[in-house]
Amino acid sequence: MDLYGLIGNPVSHSLSERYFTVKFMLADIDARFERYLLGGIEELPGLIRRQPALRGLSVTSPFKTAVISFCDELDETAATIGAVNTLKITRKGERVHIKGFNTDVDGFAAAILPLLGADKPSAMVLGSGGAARAVAFALHKLELICRVVSRTAGKGKITYDDLRPEIIRSSRLIINATPLGMGSHAGMLPDIPYEHIGHRHLLFDLIYNPPETPFLQEGKRRGALTGNGFVMLQAQAEKAWEIWQA
Ligand code: NAP
Repeated sequence: MDLYGLIGNPVSHSLSERYFTVKFMLADIDARFERYLLGGIEELPGLIRRQPALRGLSVTSPFKTAVISFCDELDETAATIGAVNTLKITRKGERVHIKGFNTDVDGFAAAILPLLGADKPSAMVLGSGGAARAVAFALHKLELICRVVSRTAGKGKITYDDLRPEIIRSSRLIINATPLGMGSHAGMLPDIPYEHIGHRHLLFDLIYNPPETPFLQEGKRRGALTGNGFVMLQAQAEKAWEIWQA
């Protein structure tokens, strides 16, 4: 039986295990999906050694960048973004080959496109981690202007202190790519001036558990269209499955 899994810390919030378990059952696929909580990314080689049936891993926070140094090869998108969320593991005898991919880009595009229709609003991505980079890359491919907002100033980023009312008003697509709203950050929300959000805005949260974060609730309260990360989860998981089966 082939084995697939998720590595991260935490992993308890993730619905990937349930998603793949149901998929394997319905499609009669002889495989299992497990969640692996790693204390650090340096535990990855040991996990792969201990689990010879492992064919693929999804990678979640906080390892999407650090995992790159454990990859023998990177696909072009993952290399450009500098973040990996999918590992394909192939073995030839004792030799293990790990290739890193990023399926968050296609996953996010699949989730956001139906909500945008023909509209091409200016976008603002909150956070500058692995998922935020995938989102910014996808928005760039979709030809949307995109600002990245971070707690710290840096190249290609603005900070929360820079968020004047006109920036919020003109950024009609705002994406939460921070962990604020889930797990140990449950009940919290990004520090943006919500009073300038209105019915012409679309607020999208990468978080899907809980389905409606305080960030989305604030948007909804002000008449904005909202969407959570569940469709993205499904779409990036299907893309990962294609990679693992290829
Ligand atoms: P990450 O690498 O840990 O990055 C999150 C970013 O959020 C950080 O780089 C940081 O950016 C900002 N941040 C972290 N803690 C914060 C805090 N206390 N206050 C304000 N900002 C904070 O995580 P990630 O892998 O990019 O994932 C981000 C979120 O997206 C997670 O909730 C994850 O579950 C979700 N996600 C969902 C899907 C899906 O399929 N739906 C896929 C990928 C990720 P700055 O330092 O620049 O402020």
